[in-house]
Amino acid sequence: MWHPYASAAAPPTTYRVAGAHGVTLELEAAGGERFDVIDAMSSWWSAIHGYRHPHLDTALHAQADAFAHVMFGGLTHDPAITLGERLCALTGMDRVFLADSGSVSVEVALKMAIQAQSARDGVDSPPRTQFLTIRGGYHGDTTGAMSVCDPVGGLHALFRGALAPQVFAPTPPPWRPCLLGPASAQADKADVAEAELAEWAARFRAVAAEHAGSLAGVIVEPVLQGAGGMRPYDPRALTVMREVCDELGLLLILDEIATGFHRTGAPWGASHAGVRADIVCVGKALTGGYLSLAATLCTAEVAALVSRTAEGSPSALMHGPTFMGNPLACAVANASLDLIEQAPAAVLRLEAALRRGLGPLAALPGVAEARVLGAVGVLVMEHPASLDVATRAALEAGVWIRPFGRLLYTMPPYIASDAEVARICAALGAAATASHAQAGGDS
Ligand SMILES: *Cc1c(COP(=O)(O)O)cnc(C)c1O
Repeated sequence: MWHPYASAAAPPTTYRVAGAHGVTLELEAAGGERFDVIDAMSSWWSAIHGYRHPHLDTALHAQADAFAHVMFGGLTHDPAITLGERLCALTGMDRVFLADSGSVSVEVALKMAIQAQSARDGVDSPPRTQFLTIRGGYHGDTTGAMSVCDPVGGLHALFRGALAPQVFAPTPPPWRPCLLGPASAQADKADVAEAELAEWAARFRAVAAEHAGSLAGVIVEPVLQGAGGMRPYDPRALTVMREVCDELGLLLILDEIATGFHRTGAPWGASHAGVRADIVCVGKALTGGYLSLAATLCTAEVAALVSRTAEGSPSALMHGPTFMGNPLACAVANASLDLIEQAPAAVLRLEAALRRGLGPLAALPGVAEARVLGAVGVLVMEHPASLDVATRAALEAGVWIRPFGRLLYTMPPYIASDAEVARICAALGAAATASHAQAGGDS
């Protein structure tokens, strides 16, 4: 059995899940040792309402009793129709394509943009098939999505020749109010932030202008780069990207798979900047973590371009997964959206609790930086954290985490109480201390 990002020769430590309810995972270690722990990861940021939520369970059971799956070619059904209407209303987009995972929704977004631009330019123009993105991004593990991931984190060297060559601009400056502890002293230095942003914007504009002839669009995660480094960046960078896209005729694709559904303290990452995308990807928390489902949404303008009549008939969007629009997934997504009204207040509360809990940890030995944005809390270590050591230390403190690289972080379920967040922060502190001790403990 291969686990994510794992070797088959040296399989990683795994814990068996015996049960899950609310914020709790019931885990069993290899020796039979039992841990009831708080899931600080929301199962990779998806289980926002916790496990075995009665409203989601009921919706899933009801749909299973009706029908579990039907093909989406030539057929449709109420769960998909309702979900499509709700997603368009929530994102302010006009058309929706249902994909079966986040990575696939990114592939669809890239294809949509290329098709739209080729319709706009006409067959006689050289095709614009490349994308501009920023370093430090993550958009999924399929090859199209990988090509716009950070070149180092996305292992481009390993897959040289297999990935489409894309265009990379520097990472925008950090969003200073998200920094805690010593670094937060600079938070009010508006002039510093202003100068940093202006310098970044000039470089972004220059890279975009240099490659404009081959670019179909810009793709980024708005406001928070997730799996590429849990890095919040200045929202005004998004405004710059929108302006550049408008000036050069590029499409702006916002990958809201991690940032969507209130995770960053606003409905969407883009809401922090008031920017409207041309194409939006959603996934992860869409079904409340129950089933794999994602969506690619776009404006009426993009949809019209993709569908422009060529040689007598309207052209089609060339994608169609077998499990597209799976009714079980759509039904549980609708149930999750029923609960989303409670998210803004919950995330605001979680943000305050995370700031209280992680603020003091910013000064721990071995911790380089602490950041909080919405219901996302991060400790950046000076050295890479040992996965086994950090995981074990957190488990003993009653919490499940999954660190990567130098990052110990949490994206708790929205239903986590203040006391549970305090427990998560204490566990992150314990994991940081254990990692630091293991790394030599002297910096
Ligand atoms: C997780 C993630 C993806 C990929 O989604 P999968 O469902 O794992 O394929 C894409 N973009 C972002 C921003 C993500 O966080």
